[in-house]
Amino acid sequence: MNLIHPDTGEVLRCGKVLCIGRNYAKHAAEMNHSVPSEPVVFLKPSTALVSPPDPVVLPALSDSVHHEAELVALIGQRCRNVAIVRALDYVAGYAVGLDMTARDLQATAKKRGHPWSVAKGFDTFAPLGSFVSSGAIADPQNLMLRLEVNGDTRQLGHTANMIFDVATLVAWCSTVFTLEPGDLLYTGTPDGVGPVDSGDALRVTCAPLPALEIRVA
Ligand code: MG
Repeated sequence: MNLIHPDTGEVLRCGKVLCIGRNYAKHAAEMNHSVPSEPVVFLKPSTALVSPPDPVVLPALSDSVHHEAELVALIGQRCRNVAIVRALDYVAGYAVGLDMTARDLQATAKKRGHPWSVAKGFDTFAPLGSFVSSGAIADPQNLMLRLEVNGDTRQLGHTANMIFDVATLVAWCSTVFTLEPGDLLYTGTPDGVGPVDSGDALRVTCAPLPALEIRVA
């Protein structure tokens, strides 16, 4: 999928899709995990991205696909080993997204000590909304994040409750990966994750970002 730089209009080819696990204490608790001492990072393939009007497609391999509403940062400039105080300079914009997760496959993988790539990486498992320039977001840690399923609120969180804030995540990830324009960072989900069914209408809001409305095929 191509992404549009919210300031320049430049078309960016999506690169890495970095995702953070257990970045809200209440979500870590609902998954029976302790709060991590450093970011829990995993990757999704860029082929998992999907935007409306295309739907989320439930894979035959899973009987339990969960929604995880997340704030997503778009990297706008190449960086490596960036300091926390400079890290947000490399973020071009923000959107809302969903880290769709085959919870049954993830549970099996955890039990076996296997990677999460399959549980997290199916086609359409990374719904993504439209980006707003980072210049228009005074503080990415002051946003209310809500997910509704068929009009019912299932997740309601605040980015102030992230364990590692966006700047820390960008800086930390840049010590491992060279970050490039078009890379995405899904910053973790608040509590309230749960299963979706065929036919569900998912709506993620995080004002002033545009809402993401996507259905489950
Ligand atoms: Mg997640």
